[in-house]
Amino acid sequence: MKTKLGLLYGGKSAEHSVSLQTALAVIKALDLEKFEIHPIYINTEGRWIKGPELTGPVDNVKALEFCPEDSLTPAALALAIFQAADQEQASLDVVFPLLHGPNGEDGTVQGLLELLNLPYVGNGVLASAAGMDKVLMKNIFAQAGLAQVNYVAFIKREWDKARESAYEKVEAELGYPCFVKPANLGSSVGISKCRNREELEAAFEEAFQFDRKVIIEEGVIAREIEVGVLGNDEPECSVAGEIVPKKDFYDYKAKYEDGNTALIIPADITEAEYRELKEMAVQAFKALDCSGLVRADFFLTKEGKLLINEVNTMPGFTPFSMFPLLWKHTGVEYPQLIERLVELAKERHDEKQ
Ligand code: ATP
Ligand code: MG
Ligand code: MG
Ligand code: MG
Repeated sequence: MKTKLGLLYGGKSAEHSVSLQTALAVIKALDLEKFEIHPIYINTEGRWIKGPELTGPVDNVKALEFCPEDSLTPAALALAIFQAADQEQASLDVVFPLLHGPNGEDGTVQGLLELLNLPYVGNGVLASAAGMDKVLMKNIFAQAGLAQVNYVAFIKREWDKARESAYEKVEAELGYPCFVKPANLGSSVGISKCRNREELEAAFEEAFQFDRKVIIEEGVIAREIEVGVLGNDEPECSVAGEIVPKKDFYDYKAKYEDGNTALIIPADITEAEYRELKEMAVQAFKALDCSGLVRADFFLTKEGKLLINEVNTMPGFTPFSMFPLLWKHTGVEYPQLIERLVELAKERHDEKQ
């Protein structure tokens, strides 16, 4: 019997178009002998649109255009899926949320799927939410004893009330350079590197455009090493990869527009460094109670010290993104990676029943 796979893609976030590319790549890679594909598109206004069943692989975005009258609010669509689940015919076996950032990677969609009792790929509500909030994530990492950079955080009201003392705290505890980031985002959106007070002030203004909470981190001079983690209760690591941005840091443009950032796989690190990296990645995965997949991002300093920067609970997932490339180099091709994630989703769901 074919697996009825719901693909949830698009979304309201800054990463809408990335998600679209991912959906097309996943559809192309799926074995149609094994899967029946049910695309569910979320447009830029956040409306959910249920597409017709696709009978063959699609080559372009056009094939994924749906009739506007099928456009539903999330709640209405959820209800429709829920009712369909009663009629054995129409229910989905697994949902794959191919979404990044807020309202996709942050536990909200995961919560909806939990309520619908549908198995879904990737991290659950808690891990997704904790992984999206850099302050909570780093607090949990600290508690797990993982090495990381020093950081401080402010909510908008605190900063509004006492801007001067916020800047003084950053300067006293972290110094320059430092990185100012919205607490809940990805793809480097709203992140600035600051070298002085003037840049710090501008960076706070910028980050607060995206979130009511910001995190400020000590800036490190280090190599950027990433590793893919795959599994549920016994997660495994891929080979490591290195990112070499051609500019000051790995910002949004370097990620999606310039396309000239070098990804070196496998990363040129020592056996001992790789061993420690894997241990830390699995520890981070377990500390956040992750499942399915994460991409763990690290800094490796000149002195050979590894610091965890973050985990991404729904990392970039086009065939040219770091996570799938890391697994390709580990011996798991893109179509197998997708199938493995679907298996892990079912396994996790069955264990909860
Ligand atoms: P994504 O989820 O796409 O990986 P993100 O928005 O969660 O990105 P980070 O990974 O935290 O953001 O930071 C983006 C980039 O900024 C890093 O890849 C790195 O180049 C630089 N950077 C971030 N924090 C620091 C730091 N503390 N010291 C030095 N460089 C940093
Ligand atoms: Mg991130
Ligand atoms: Mg991200
Ligand atoms: Mg990152």
